[in-house]
Amino acid sequence: MNVPRSQTIDLQDGDALIIVDVQNDFLPGGALAVRNGDEVVPALNTYIDLFLTEGLPIIATRDWHPANHCSFQAQGGPWPPHCIADTHGARFAAGLRLPPDTAVISKAVAPDKDAYSGFAGTELEAVLRSHGVRRVFVGGLATDYCVLNTVRDALENRYQVYVLGDAIRAVNVHPGDGDKAMQDMIVKGAMIITIEHLA
Ligand SMILES: [Zn+2]
Repeated sequence: MNVPRSQTIDLQDGDALIIVDVQNDFLPGGALAVRNGDEVVPALNTYIDLFLTEGLPIIATRDWHPANHCSFQAQGGPWPPHCIADTHGARFAAGLRLPPDTAVISKAVAPDKDAYSGFAGTELEAVLRSHGVRRVFVGGLATDYCVLNTVRDALENRYQVYVLGDAIRAVNVHPGDGDKAMQDMIVKGAMIITIEHLA
């Protein structure tokens, strides 16, 4: 559901911020650019400040592919080469103010497996468990792929999920994909909020 504007949410122990794939290749000018993807950066910085102030965990996921990754067109996959490990394209957006103790989760690191979800084949679930996390606040790129699948898995793993509606952008390979993803997340139990809900 969309949380009504009048309702505020107090951050508390057990909350965590998950920033999905805010990497150069997904920003305008990148190998797999998301339209207006750069607009999530200032929005996420505001959320980062709030979570930092409360001493709550901040987690950043990233695509971290080998050069011959199966999702690349040369290997028969759907995408141009992107987010190759240790390249400029794989780096987090320069303007994103990730604190030094951010937990970085690398995904799809082996040639033969892709991962849209931050939970797929990673230590994300273990990291959340180690912090006693119950509610996750998810923003980043892109709404219709890695945000969607990370949110789905978080719900399946029984976390309460808030999607940061003002800190996500969609690829929209097919027109409407982003809207469909929002609907899907809402139907599965995610709540859509914006910064006003936390301020
Ligand atoms: Zn990828």
